[in-house]
Amino acid sequence: MVIGARLDDALYNILRAREPRDLLRSVLIQPYFAPELQVLMVEQGAINYESFLYSKKLLEQQAIGEKLEDTYRYAARDQGFRRAVVIAYAHRCALCGIRVRTLDGHTVVTAAHIIPCSIGHDDRPANGMALCRTRH
Ligand SMILES: [Zn+2]
Repeated sequence: MVIGARLDDALYNILRAREPRDLLRSVLIQPYFAPELQVLMVEQGAINYESFLYSKKLLEQQAIGEKLEDTYRYAARDQGFRRAVVIAYAHRCALCGIRVRTLDGHTVVTAAHIIPCSIGHDDRPANGMALCRTRH
C-alpha cells in the first residue's frame, strides 16, 4: 500500500492546471482499465473535484451564514457536505468524542444533517454533526 508520493516541483506546477491534469489522468487510466470503467473513473474524478469545491465554499460561507445555491450535483453535494462537517468537527464524533484517523486519511465519523436534507436542503456545516457510525 502506498500512503503518499512526492511530486517533482515542476510536475506539481503543471498538474495544478486542469487540462494537463485531465490529460495525465487519461494517460494513466486508458492502458489499465476497461472503457466502461474509464468513464466511471473520470466521472468520479469530476465529482470528487466538484465536492471539494463545494465543501470549500461551505466552510467559507460558514462565517456569513448564507445557504449556497443548489447548483451542484447530488453526489458532489453529499460528499462535499460530509467533508465540510468532518473538518468542522476535527474528525471527532459530536456525541461520544471518538476520533480515529487512518494513515491514508480515512476517519470513523460521518456527517449527518440536523434538519434533514429532504426538508431543508441546508448543507451549511451549522446544520451538520459529525457522528461515529454507532451514534449516527
Ligand atoms: Zn460516537
